[in-house]
Amino acid sequence: MKDKLFENIEINCPVCGVTHMVEKRLRETQALFKGEVVNYEEVYFLCDKADDEENEFVPAKVMDSNLLKVRDAYRKAKGLLTSYEISEIRSYYGLTQSEFALMLGWGEVTVTRYESKTIQDETYDSLMRMVRENSMLALEYLDKHSERFSEKRYSEIRHCVKKRLDVSSRMYLKMQEIKSLYTQFEEASDYNGFKTLDVEKLTRVMGYFANEVNHLYKVKMMKLLWYTDAVYYRRHGKSMTGLVYEHMTFGALPIGFNEILNVPTIQVVEEMMYEDIGYKIIPTSKTDESVFLKDELSVLQLVADKFKDYRSKQIVDYMHEEKAYVETSDHELIPYSLAKDLKELS
Ligand SMILES: [Zn+2]
Repeated sequence: MKDKLFENIEINCPVCGVTHMVEKRLRETQALFKGEVVNYEEVYFLCDKADDEENEFVPAKVMDSNLLKVRDAYRKAKGLLTSYEISEIRSYYGLTQSEFALMLGWGEVTVTRYESKTIQDETYDSLMRMVRENSMLALEYLDKHSERFSEKRYSEIRHCVKKRLDVSSRMYLKMQEIKSLYTQFEEASDYNGFKTLDVEKLTRVMGYFANEVNHLYKVKMMKLLWYTDAVYYRRHGKSMTGLVYEHMTFGALPIGFNEILNVPTIQVVEEMMYEDIGYKIIPTSKTDESVFLKDELSVLQLVADKFKDYRSKQIVDYMHEEKAYVETSDHELIPYSLAKDLKELS
């Protein structure tokens, strides 16, 4: 388990009662929360003037932030928005904690509690998610609860939400387009790796590869997705994204391969290659590893490390030797169960 020095700071040390330099450290540890064992990074302090038995301490403020990490680790494990994600949503619309709660028709302190100590229930969680994805809905909720705001604040917030609406409604439509292609795969099956399509996860996975991998063009991105899902399936018995792949000339190709290139974490730029135009994929923001579960991150890192420097043709040739490819024919859906026999990665 990781345990490392973060910084040395001067502090009034509660262990020995003297103000001196102590080590502020960070370690991986576990906690039991609501019956769930969660992993998180705990901050603690070390006094070198005391005996080894009782030389650690955690000031109250740091304790609070440790507990916040425990709750967020639990939220992540349960597929709920973390406190940070909640605050991101309201900042996106220029709202304070209480304004966000008022807008959604909740008690004024509800969001404040979610960002500090209470775990939101699923109904509240999904409303916040929907509002994040759909600014039109945010506007509807704001208008519905306009009487809860001063006239001035109402019009300021409305202005901000409308600005977001412009950008996000276009994005929303594109996301809906992807989802609509997957309506026939709503049941968990061998074709989606026993998981229905998770567009949000897919968006993050694509953003990850856009940051971490070289020579990234369309064809290579699609192979990286297949390997990610295949390796994850092999380890955990389900896919990571829920994409369904078809056997095509250049290897596995997800249903909706053109549509998924519209996710907001990547940008496709045209590039002259010899006599032809190539479509290079670049990230729109830096990788945020904290959005992934530990198991997910380890698969992403494995796939990125393996294929980092492969050219499109190399990864296509590599995939052509997989049982999943050899045992399926043109345009046939590739069952995830064939991923059990991946030739090398595991
Ligand atoms: Zn001390």
